[in-house]
Amino acid sequence: LARTPGRLVGAGVGAAGVVDPATGRILVASDSFRGWAGFAVTEAVETALGVPAFLDNDVNAFLMGEVSAGAVRGERDVLGMTLGTGVGGALWTGGTLFPGPHGAAGEIGHIPGFGDLPCTCGGRGHLETLASGRSIGARYADRTGRRLTAREVYEAATYGDEDARAVYEAAGRGIARAVVITAG
Ligand SMILES: [Zn+2]
Repeated sequence: LARTPGRLVGAGVGAAGVVDPATGRILVASDSFRGWAGFAVTEAVETALGVPAFLDNDVNAFLMGEVSAGAVRGERDVLGMTLGTGVGGALWTGGTLFPGPHGAAGEIGHIPGFGDLPCTCGGRGHLETLASGRSIGARYADRTGRRLTAREVYEAATYGDEDARAVYEAAGRGIARAVVITAG
């Protein structure tokens, strides 16, 4: 939220899914967000707050925040990556966000070459099948039959659980390889 002292002047919203910044609506949402596709985000925020609102994809918004005031402030070329439920990515090149011809440039989670497991997008062998929070839980269940969250798998790894360590090592190797491929 952008504030001058005591006065709210506007709101920027970073939302999951494929979004349309021009209309302020969600175009396509993953199965993590039921009923989200088509939602008029900026209209709802403007009604609630009474100030202009602006919408972008959450990973784009994260990267613009880091470039303008965060870890990579002032950098001209940055690959931004978010590790959460999925694996998100965005590209900042030559001092501006690079959307690419289909608005999905830098979507590092869906590059192939990481095995043959089915991905949330319908593809196979994408980085996201190893390195997302959801996948870390799933890969641990593949090995052990036990369903844990990514955080619980992490905790098991710190106590020396070999399966948990192997799952995190595969995720880390995958992320490193994806960064090398993308940044090359
Ligand atoms: Zn995918």
